[in-house]
Amino acid sequence: MERLGINHGGYHGDAIDIRAVLRDVQAAAHAHGWTSDIFHESAEFKWLALHRLPPSSIIHHPSTRIYLSTGIHGDEPAGPLAALRLLQENRWPENAEIFLLPCLNPTGFTLNRRGNAGGMDLNRDYRNPQTAEVRAHVAWLERQPEFDLYLCLHEDWESHGFYLYEQNPDSKPSLAEKMIEAVQKVCPIDLSENIEGRAAKGGIVRPNILPHERPDWPEAFYLIVNKSRQGCTLEAPSDFPLATRVNALVAGVNAALAEMS
Ligand SMILES: [Zn+2]
Repeated sequence: MERLGINHGGYHGDAIDIRAVLRDVQAAAHAHGWTSDIFHESAEFKWLALHRLPPSSIIHHPSTRIYLSTGIHGDEPAGPLAALRLLQENRWPENAEIFLLPCLNPTGFTLNRRGNAGGMDLNRDYRNPQTAEVRAHVAWLERQPEFDLYLCLHEDWESHGFYLYEQNPDSKPSLAEKMIEAVQKVCPIDLSENIEGRAAKGGIVRPNILPHERPDWPEAFYLIVNKSRQGCTLEAPSDFPLATRVNALVAGVNAALAEMS
């Protein structure tokens, strides 16, 4: 599969109508019995947190709590589209309790740019949140139980293929190889030995992070410090066709969910 070759200095691919996507997200969630919570609101948008409980017939079994978020960068459209596809397909493991945040930065999507409408990169604002969106998101997170796994869906306009970051400080069984194995059937993998300044192998980056030494926390740092002891940030390559990137994110999420169930 060939790269499109259109991302020079930033993302220049397809944009999405985020209002339409979020309408479809809400419709799919409603159709499949999810509950929805609005944790932040502006004149234009409602910030949604969707919740799926395992069916009542199996609720006495221990459930696995999975947190899934996307759309924090407004120039990464495959994430919200993957969230929509997962909701529409509705193939969640029986015992999975899912917390799904389908778009953390809707105002960025209206401009097809990384930051929010005020130009702030929300994914650097999780240490001492200044933006209204992240403050509201963190307040929502503080009301939730701990998660067994977090998955954050992103795109990278420079990458040569799909890759992911895995955080696993307690050395639980890794999900990364299974996810790469599933994704490579639908999307090229970035096999670079160095990705975004970190050592990588087979599309997997296992960063040795020191959150307390870094001032500008991304969402994943907040999650690993406060909410979950295992998680992955998935990066679809946004110089490839949008459909390929959505397929990649969906395949990666489904592989992780299958391992956790
Ligand atoms: Zn991103």
